[in-house]
Order: sequence, then C-alpha cells, then structure tokens
Amino acid sequence: MSFVEISPGLFMIDAHMFGAPENLSTYVIPEPVPTLIEPGPTTCHAAVRRGLDAMGIDDIAQIAVTHIHLDHAGGTGHLLQVFPKAKVYVHSVGAPHLHNPEKLLRSANRIYGEEGMQSLWGSMLPIATAALIPVEEGDRIPIGSHRWLEVMYTPGHAKHHISLVDSESNIVMIGDSAGITFPEMDIVHPILPPPDINVESLIANFERYRQQKPFALAFSHFGLKTNVDHILEESEHRLRLWAGIAQTNKEKTPEQVGRLISHANLADLKAHGHSHKHIQRIHDRTDYSSGAQGLLRYVHTHAV
Ligand SMILES: [Zn+2]
Repeated sequence: MSFVEISPGLFMIDAHMFGAPENLSTYVIPEPVPTLIEPGPTTCHAAVRRGLDAMGIDDIAQIAVTHIHLDHAGGTGHLLQVFPKAKVYVHSVGAPHLHNPEKLLRSANRIYGEEGMQSLWGSMLPIATAALIPVEEGDRIPIGSHRWLEVMYTPGHAKHHISLVDSESNIVMIGDSAGITFPEMDIVHPILPPPDINVESLIANFERYRQQKPFALAFSHFGLKTNVDHILEESEHRLRLWAGIAQTNKEKTPEQVGRLISHANLADLKAHGHSHKHIQRIHDRTDYSSGAQGLLRYVHTHAV
C-alpha cells in the first residue's frame, strides 16, 4: 500500500526515500484544495507521483515544506513541472533558497560529493518567486474555507524550520524538530546537522508541541506517533544526552565526538530495555558524525 489515511481527510504517502520504505512521509490533504506537505527529494518524485495516482489525485494546488533541506524540499521544483499552478509555502528565511538553490546545492555538494548528490537527492530546480508564499509564525495556510494549516515557527533544526498544525485533526507535522523514528518503536534520534542547530530552541519547540495537546505528532522520518508526551520526553532525553557529550568533549574532533555519542547512546538504549532489532534499525539510519558537527558548532557559538 503506497498511501494510508491517518486521520479523516489526511493521508500519508510513503515516499520511499533511499529506495526503501518508512524513511520519508509525505502528507496529503486532498480536499477541498489538494495540498501536499513535504514533497521530499527529487529521487522520491516517482514514488510520490505513484502515491498521488493511487489516491486518484491529478492536481496539487498547494505544497508546503517544513524546511528547505534536500530530503524535504529538493523535489519541489520537479513537482511544479507537473503541477505548474501550485503555490509553495515555506518560511520567509527559506524562501530565497528555493528560488535560488545554488548555495544550498553547493553546501550539499561539499557534504555528499557529486555522485552522492545524484544517488541520494537528485537535482533541484529553482522555483519562480511568483509561486513562493513566504510564511511566518501564526500564519494560516487555507485549505478551503473550513480547514487550514497553522504555521508554528520552530527553529532549532534549521533557522527557517516550521511545523504545521492541521486544524481538523490537531495533528502537528513536526518536520525534523524531534528527530527520526520508525513505526512500532519509541526511540527517537535527534537529527542535528550543521550549521543551525540550537539545542535550547529544539527543547522550546517540544514545550510548544506539548501545549498544543495534539492528537499526534506526524514525523517526516517517519510516520505518526500518538503517545505524544512519551515521545517528546524520549526525544528530549536523547538530545540532552548527546548535547552533554558534545559539551564535555568540545575540544575533540567531530569524528571522536560522534563515536562517543554513538557508544553512549547504544548503552543508554540497551539500559532502557529497547529491543536489539529496534536499536539496530535506528542506529543504521543515524549520522552521528553529522550530529556531532552540528552540536559542536552549537556549543562553540553558545555559552552554556
Ligand atoms: Zn529530514
């Protein structure tokens, strides 16, 4: 099954990132104004289109992205070639980079190399300014006259990161704020790439999510969690554990700090009784070195 209705009128397509299931959730509200959240990278374009086809959707009028990183927004330009009238909602700080993705692509190229870029993300097409609708905290993305997505400005993972609250279901689409998880596990690993990571902002986001008393948190990586308080506690616990290690070892290299985090994290997961299978699965999808780089940059630029 390539799509599932997670709440009345709100659907999730498995975008098959990295060619495998359960790596990226694309959310769709088909009516009355067909709206898609998180188109994913260009390499997911075919899977997203298949999902839309399976749902019987032949037009998309609005696309929203929680932030502009390639795994969330990279494929937006390609989607616009298919749905040329669609508007793209993105935080005002991120909007210029979707119009001119050169800087974004240059820094991604440095990290992944040209080959890695092609196999992981694919190309990224610039988006005309006329198609972009910059949003801020408190804005509403209307989906017809009775439903909307409320914008929460939630920096911390990236300084242009937003979360979206579906007015109908009170489900919050949290992008990468809380990290990565998989169905059937309560482990959440922070996603902490340089250069914008801000631990305090991330923790402040968690409090805002709690206050919203959402029906569920909709992760980009991957799926829905209804045990909101428990999941946020888990994410905060792991974030503080990792950040503490970066703080204590801030003179070491990112590789060394990444290894220390990885070891301490594994021990902590085992101590909390998580199954070997779950631990292995999320461990394999975690980039500790990138997380260490993000955290080291944070501890060196913020007095704690
Ligand atoms: Zn992501």
